[in-house]
Amino acid sequence: MAYFPDDMPRPEPDWDDRGFWENCKERKLSFQACGKCGELRHPPRPMCSNCQSTEIHWIDAPEEAYVYSYNVVHHVSHPAVATRVPYVGAVLEFERMPGVRLVTNITDVDPGSVSIGMKLRLWWDDIGDEMYLPRFKPA
Ligand code: ZN
Repeated sequence: MAYFPDDMPRPEPDWDDRGFWENCKERKLSFQACGKCGELRHPPRPMCSNCQSTEIHWIDAPEEAYVYSYNVVHHVSHPAVATRVPYVGAVLEFERMPGVRLVTNITDVDPGSVSIGMKLRLWWDDIGDEMYLPRFKPA
């Protein structure tokens, strides 16, 4: 059962982030890196801001991440979250992946116990139609 109900809006991959979502379908968390200078970036973009190369490759992320920032959502901003509030939205960072920050949810946690720097572990949320979203819970 998915973390949010079925009426939660789904990702709508476009040309730039299609590779990210294709990897998620394989339950593989990977971030874009420049094929020329190696600079990491997220969200995916068509061109490197460091060297302007359009060469791309994908680097697998570690399964552990750390809380860079977070908020506890109490307000029902969409009908799909009505049964889920309060929930935690977070920005995470990864060891050895400078420049990469992922917006996701922290699950299986008392929202009051989340803190900056908290170590988390990846899990894959099956949202149906062979799509998986990367979410995290305390390590
Ligand atoms: Zn580059």
